[in-house]
Amino acid sequence: MITSKNPYNGEEIAQIKEFDQADINKALDLADNTFKTWRETSYKHRSELMMKAATELKENKQEYARMITLEMGKPISQSISEIEKCAWVCEYYAENAEKHLENEIIETDADTSYVSYEPIGVVLAVMPWNYPFWQVFRFAAPALMAGNIGVLKHASNVMQSAENIQKVFERAGFPKGCFQNLPISSSKVEGILRDKRVKAATLTGSKPAGSSVASIAGEEIKKTVLELGGSNALVIFKDANIEEAVKTCVQARFQNTGQSCIAGKRLIVHEDIADSFIKKFKEQVSELKSGDPSEEDTFIGVLSREDLAEDLEKQVNDSVKQGAKIVLGGKRKGTYFEPTIISNVNKEMPIFKEETFGPAISITTFKDDEEAVSLVNYSDFGLGVSIFTEDVERAKRLVPMFDDGAVFVNELVKSDPRLPFGGTKISGYGRELSADGIREFVNRKTVYFNSY
Ligand code: NAP
Repeated sequence: MITSKNPYNGEEIAQIKEFDQADINKALDLADNTFKTWRETSYKHRSELMMKAATELKENKQEYARMITLEMGKPISQSISEIEKCAWVCEYYAENAEKHLENEIIETDADTSYVSYEPIGVVLAVMPWNYPFWQVFRFAAPALMAGNIGVLKHASNVMQSAENIQKVFERAGFPKGCFQNLPISSSKVEGILRDKRVKAATLTGSKPAGSSVASIAGEEIKKTVLELGGSNALVIFKDANIEEAVKTCVQARFQNTGQSCIAGKRLIVHEDIADSFIKKFKEQVSELKSGDPSEEDTFIGVLSREDLAEDLEKQVNDSVKQGAKIVLGGKRKGTYFEPTIISNVNKEMPIFKEETFGPAISITTFKDDEEAVSLVNYSDFGLGVSIFTEDVERAKRLVPMFDDGAVFVNELVKSDPRLPFGGTKISGYGRELSADGIREFVNRKTVYFNSY
């Protein structure tokens, strides 16, 4: 049995029966058989169903959002936004999949030669709890539109949301077997990855999980996409619009109670403006309302598990022992962690070097552009960076200097169905969303027609 527990009050929500080997076999058979017919369907048909999935999400967003909040403690208003964003990605791929995958004619010596993008079959998605719907939909919408089949191993603490996702596709009218949730623990992933019916895998989660899945898939010569952790920097240059930058940085770090791979975790501020920036930043962070995640006006909820809150507490305490200074917060009570600002941080402290997955932000100062870039790139992670400056020419000059998968200027790093999303270094490889995302799990078939 897998137990689902409300992290806000510790109450058990449900016991979910884990699939045994026979259940897994049956599910993979169904997935494999469904592929044979699903791959033959038209884009028009798939689009109609995907649009229905979007409608289903919008019409029942309260129901789906409520379960996210119960299972992992996300403030309800943010859970509703998550569901709305899932509807958007369904609509985006319903409207654009055919265009992204149309044959690409290439002039050669042939009568005709082109690349066609064809589905590969059953793809396993191993997903995390922090955006229990969004992480899955940004994989599933393009995968199904491309003619693939999805099987999901979701995080153990959001198993009912996982069931709800399967329900969305069923209610939208997708054939049974197009998308199935497998309620299993992570120990069962290896067997599924090695199964011949499964052709590829995508994992969003931590480095150890990504590394394990990629190694097994590598032995089996199966393609993987990895979306792993991040430690994005927010760089505030001297000429930044401070009022606007402060507002954006508060959102960048504290939404989803800080549990986001692309959250801005390291504030890197020019030394001349650091004091005034920190003062304004502290004022705004102090105003964030903590409380019951099921209440509409709560902005800071709880962390999704107590051990994760303990990890953050250790990173903060260890950094303070090494000389960092608490500007705000710093304390934990059960799964609740106070919104926390830590200054005097250097690049060797845990709060700078490691990924912090909760409402705590580090502040480090810099003297010039070169030092700012070097601090950003010092991280082993490479998901994204936000830079704040009024000088467009400086921004353009700096963009190529960052190692990351994304650079946002005067904006927080965010995912958007129209733009590719993914990291470099230990943040993973491959891209999701946009045309790049839908082309990850396809056979790029070279076709060459000649006549004698
Ligand atoms: P996690 O522990 O890696 O879990 C993610 C998923 O992997 C869960 O379904 C988990 O199942 C499974 N899993 C864990 N160990 C595994 C293994 N050895 N083999 C196969 N599957 C395994 O990560 P998390 O704590 O849930 O999520 C937080 C992490 O995800 C952070 O590092 C965050 O930055 C990253 N993340 C990245 C992105 C991105 O787009 N780059 C987005 C969101 C989150 P169980 O729950 O059953 O253990």
